[in-house]
Amino acid sequence: MQSAKTVHASKESLNPFEIVQKQIDSAASILQLPSSITKILKKPKRVISVSFPVKMDDGTIEVFDGYRSQHNDASGPTKGGIRFHPDVDIDEVKALSMWMTFKCQVVGLPYGGGKGGVVCDPHHYSTSELERISRGFMEAIADVVGPETDIPAPDVYTTPQIMGWMMDTYSRLKGTYSPGVITGKPLSIGGSKGRSSATATGCVYTIREAMKDLGLPMEGATVAIQGFGNAGRISALLLAELGCKIVAVCDTKGGIYHPDGLDVDTLCRLKDETSIMEYPEKQVIGGDQLLKLDVDILIPAALENVITSENADKIKAKIIAEAANGPTTPYADEVLKERGVIVIPDILANAGGVTVSYFEWVQNQMHFYWTEKEINERLEQIMVTAYREVADISKEYQVDMRNGAFIIAIKKLAETMEARGWI
Ligand code: GLU
Repeated sequence: MQSAKTVHASKESLNPFEIVQKQIDSAASILQLPSSITKILKKPKRVISVSFPVKMDDGTIEVFDGYRSQHNDASGPTKGGIRFHPDVDIDEVKALSMWMTFKCQVVGLPYGGGKGGVVCDPHHYSTSELERISRGFMEAIADVVGPETDIPAPDVYTTPQIMGWMMDTYSRLKGTYSPGVITGKPLSIGGSKGRSSATATGCVYTIREAMKDLGLPMEGATVAIQGFGNAGRISALLLAELGCKIVAVCDTKGGIYHPDGLDVDTLCRLKDETSIMEYPEKQVIGGDQLLKLDVDILIPAALENVITSENADKIKAKIIAEAANGPTTPYADEVLKERGVIVIPDILANAGGVTVSYFEWVQNQMHFYWTEKEINERLEQIMVTAYREVADISKEYQVDMRNGAFIIAIKKLAETMEARGWI
C-alpha cells in the first residue's frame, strides 16, 4: 500500500521512508558493507499505531490517530520527539525515527531512534482539549515507552507543557514519579536549562564551523530562514547576536524580505502577538522564493521535502543548515553537491535538541541538576566535535556531509550490533 507521502515530484519520490532508505544505501555502498547490516537498519524494530477517543469542550467525542516508531535500540533506549500535525502519517514517523538513530550516533549519545506523531492540527483546539489529546496519546503508548525503553520529546507543534502533561500521565499510570520518561519538560518538573534553545544553539555552532571552513566572517553574513517556530526563531536571534543579517523569514502565513535585514526582536514579538506578516517595512515573498534568495546561509526550519528537484538548481546559498528533519531530497543533494553548496545535514545540524534532551534525562536519572553554563559548554563541545568528525570523514571519502554523517553513524551501529551478536 502506498502512503499518502508517496507523492512524486517530477523526478523523484518524496516518501520520507524511501528517502532515508536511499540515504542508508548510499553510505553503505561507499563503505561496502554487507547487506546484513543495511537489512536491519532499513526497517524500524517496532511501530505501533493507536486510535484514542478524546472528549471535546462541547461534549462531543473525537477519535485521534497516532503512531510511535522505535527504529533501532542497539545503543540504548530509543529517543525522539512527538509531533502534532495534520500531515503525520506512518511512513513519516518511521523515517523520522530512523533519522533519530543516525543523529544520536553522529553526536555520540547512548540512544537509538524513536519518533511519534498524532494526526491533528493543535491550533484548532483549546488548551484543555490539547491536554486531553496529550494525555490520551501517552496513555495509548504508555506500555511501550519508559525511561529505559523509549523516551519521547517535543517536535513540530508540541511544547514543554505537552511534555509535562504526558510525564504526569505516565507517572500516574505507573505509580512512580518518572521525569526521565520524556524530555523537553518545563523546568519545574525536571526540565533542563538550555533545552528550549538547544536545537537552534547547536545549529548555530555548526554554521559557525562551516563559515570558518569557507573562510567567511559571521559579521554581515546574510541569512534566510524557512519556518519561524522554535528552531527558526531562536536561530534568527542567535545569528543576529553574532552579527548576521536576517534578510528573509517565512512561516505558514507567508514570507517577508528586506535586503538590509529584519529586526529579529520585532519579528518574535509579532509572531507571538499576531503574525510576522505585520512587519512594517518589507517585501512580501513566497516560501519558494525565500529558498532561492542570494544569501550566505539558508536554514530550512520547518518540514520535510522543501529542497527538491523542483528548486535545487536555483538555490544560491553557500551553506544550507538543516534545522528541520529531512528538508532536502536525495536528488536535490546531488544537484547541490555539483553546484558546490555545503549542506550541513539534519542529523548533524539539528542534533543539539536531542543532545540537551540527553542531558535532561541524565539529570533526571541522577536527580542532580546542572547550570546553564555547564549545559552550553557541553553542548558546544559535542556539536563542534561532531561537526569536525563529519567534515573530516567527508573529505576522506570525498563525499558530501550527509554521506559523511551517515558513514560515521552506520560504522558505529555496525560495531555495536556486532558486539551484541545481532550480525
Ligand atoms: N524532535 C527533536 C529532533 O528531531 C528532538 C528529539 C529529542 O529531544 O529527543 O531531534
